[in-house]
Amino acid sequence: MLRLLIIILLLVLLFALIKRFLPGKSPPQDEPRIAKIVRCDYCQIYIPHTSAIKHAERYYCCDEHKLMGSDSGA
Ligand SMILES: [Zn+2]
Repeated sequence: MLRLLIIILLLVLLFALIKRFLPGKSPPQDEPRIAKIVRCDYCQIYIPHTSAIKHAERYYCCDEHKLMGSDSGA
């Protein structure tokens, strides 16, 4: 009986190994592209490009800083 259990255990291990080495579903190795980082022109904080507010070729972290930044320029 014990021998049967060992055989089953070995088979399970073997299947696990085969599954790992077979080129099936490739694990998500390539991480999602890291977002481009831009700097707020007003407070100099670094923010992801996707959440940045672009104005006059400059980036801002929020609308407030966009207004402040464009005000100081003019
Ligand atoms: Zn800012």
